[in-house]
Amino acid sequence: MSVFGRLVPVMVGLAVLPLVSAPAAVAAPVQACSEEPRELPINEFTDYREMVRELGRLERVSKGRVAVKEVGRSTRGRVIHQASVGTGPKVFVVSSEIHGNEKTGTDALLRILDYLGTSESRDAERLRKTITFVAVPKLNPDGAELDRRGNDLSWAEVQQRFPQLKDRPPAWNYLSDVIQGDDYRKRPGFDVNRDFNPELNYVPRAEDFPGAPDQPGWFITPEARALRSVYVSLAEQRGKVPDVYVDLHHQGACVRQEGSDRLLDVGIDYPPLPDKFFEPGQKYAKYRDVYTKDESRQLAISGFNGMTSRGFVGARYPHAADRDLPGQARCSFALNGTGTVLFEVRGQTQTLGQQHRERFTRAVMAGLYNMLRDVSTGAVEYIDPEAFDRLPGTADSAALARVLE
Ligand SMILES: [Zn+2]
Repeated sequence: MSVFGRLVPVMVGLAVLPLVSAPAAVAAPVQACSEEPRELPINEFTDYREMVRELGRLERVSKGRVAVKEVGRSTRGRVIHQASVGTGPKVFVVSSEIHGNEKTGTDALLRILDYLGTSESRDAERLRKTITFVAVPKLNPDGAELDRRGNDLSWAEVQQRFPQLKDRPPAWNYLSDVIQGDDYRKRPGFDVNRDFNPELNYVPRAEDFPGAPDQPGWFITPEARALRSVYVSLAEQRGKVPDVYVDLHHQGACVRQEGSDRLLDVGIDYPPLPDKFFEPGQKYAKYRDVYTKDESRQLAISGFNGMTSRGFVGARYPHAADRDLPGQARCSFALNGTGTVLFEVRGQTQTLGQQHRERFTRAVMAGLYNMLRDVSTGAVEYIDPEAFDRLPGTADSAALARVLE
């Protein structure tokens, strides 16, 4: 847990932000890269027990600024936490490890909570006054402890909870085979990031199963319900939906920045919801006036700028015009009016293990920090959303197509 305590020198305002830059010694890793799943060390990442201890510490040392509460329980009884800091009108929600083998986000969130909660700098004070920062770290704790993508939940357990699904086949995002090197045959689970529905009070209906990637999810997983409850509670308390939602993920191990051919640190993206479906009569027409495509692209550019200005390698995550994934958390929230951004750090634990952990964690922090700053000052509203399409793309996306984000 030596990573803790480093955030304060790293993030005390812009003047010393060069400290968050990519360490020169590891700026250009030249090594073989492979998408083949294998066993690799991950012990440097924060595990569930360490995270709980750190959240408790932050609550104690922050003089009450960091408030931690339970927002749900995983299938295996692990508490899912929300940690918030700040009293500002802009509500900024970030979750990590919805996929349990995508781990840097949790480390980055704990360090940002530490900075926002304990720093007496004017910068931190301004952020606390203008923003309410709400972190949901390690959203899928069962998957995180198993170091795998899916949660730990069988279709039979879902049917027990929702008897109306008794005779239905499992949801399409049910993982019950070998995937990413993990054997789900005896211990199945779901891809939680396909379980969201833009209708936040949706209740599972038999006829909606097994569903499909281009249809909404159902909130059948306790993890999706936990994040929904965070979102809905904030919306009720504030009388408006959260302004920002960032979902922290990892992607393929071999992706490069188009043009430079450098291995990526982080790709960024706005929601994969095709424009054509917002036309009259189409399936997202009713969301046309609230959908936040431009706000999401502005926020994504801010995140990109934060990373690249500090020496990290960023790119647009591949986003084909017909890519349509309404069951993702970010899509569901964007259809409710929240600006949403996806971060995709290079490599998952089965392909990179903990390699580059510190560098990637700093890259995520640099992106999030710049977004916080631009939201805090209002600068984000002056970013040209169309500039998103001019950011460098991701090379080797053929390799990426085999890897789940
Ligand atoms: Zn992911």
